[in-house]
Amino acid sequence: MTRFAFDIHATDGKARTGTIRMMRGDIRTPAFMPVGTAATVKAMKMEDVRASGADIILGNTYHLMLRPGAERVARLGGLHKFGGWDRPILTDSGGYQVMSLSELRKITEEGVTFASHLDGSRHLLSPERSMEIQRLLGSDIVMCFDECPRADQPRDVIAKSMEMSMRWARRSRDAFNAGGEHAERSALFGIQQGALDERLRKDSADALTDIGFDGYAIGGLAVGEGQEAMFATLEFAPQQLPADRPRYLMGVGKPDDLVGAVERGVDMFDCVLPTRSGRNGQGFTWNGPVNMRNARHAEDTGPLDERCPCPTCTKYSRAYLHHLHKSGEMLGAMLLTEHNLWFYQQLMAGMRAAIAEGRFTGFAADFRRDYLAR
Ligand SMILES: [Zn+2]
Repeated sequence: MTRFAFDIHATDGKARTGTIRMMRGDIRTPAFMPVGTAATVKAMKMEDVRASGADIILGNTYHLMLRPGAERVARLGGLHKFGGWDRPILTDSGGYQVMSLSELRKITEEGVTFASHLDGSRHLLSPERSMEIQRLLGSDIVMCFDECPRADQPRDVIAKSMEMSMRWARRSRDAFNAGGEHAERSALFGIQQGALDERLRKDSADALTDIGFDGYAIGGLAVGEGQEAMFATLEFAPQQLPADRPRYLMGVGKPDDLVGAVERGVDMFDCVLPTRSGRNGQGFTWNGPVNMRNARHAEDTGPLDERCPCPTCTKYSRAYLHHLHKSGEMLGAMLLTEHNLWFYQQLMAGMRAAIAEGRFTGFAADFRRDYLAR
């Protein structure tokens, strides 16, 4: 059994398509990972997540360590058994969410001490504890523990933060390697930092490559800098990372973000947008996002998207989805989330096929013409 392998089948410009092979299954790239924050992809049964085309989902260390607790998940047989998903799971390190969600944070070289946003209880997250939690969860792709600073801070603050994250990456590598049987069947990804600065991004990429990882994430983007600044950074950041390893852009994004990032050499993504939007009444279509609460859908007997083969579009009308969302019925969130996840997976499948057939430029142009038309 292969622990971890990445085969690139075709490239088109900077865009690549391939397969990541792991013990729990293959991951077709470019890949979109639905976010399963608290051992659930909200409003979705796991068999329906799989039916949408997902090869891998993401779990959040920060949420799971606080509730139900990593040790409890381990006693219950691990995250796959607990949540009913037998394919690969990527877990984040908790670093990003401890910065954005918890209170009373104190960051030192050792790690981050913080108070839980649930009950105020005190916790420490360090590289070693993050690796232990991800091992207890039974993660397939483990992420290094890092600090994700706001991109609008002075360069020396960004530099110092990045340098500490690189020391934490070394400690993460060592702690992961000491994980025994788990280390023999899972993978570890490093995370590039350095905000929007090309030189800092290069230094970060070099430090990570020296340590050596199975894959490399681009962190510190999609934190409010805007699409233009993100794309400008993606002109150089992916190319600074090893070409033969998967590149994962964390926390991205909108459908047009995904197309633009694949165009610049990114292979993997995760984002709450399709699931969160599904609960808030926003549906994604090939002609752009649609607010199902809008009165113009009230008597529309057509499907949400004419081209979508998902269970929602096959059976239900825009009028019905409008009614469910206006009434606050939970089925509205379920049906729209399911459509959105199918839409994202169809977009990824479309990009994979276009890259394989050497027509990605045309695919991206057609996508933007329809999706961004107003
Ligand atoms: Zn649909």
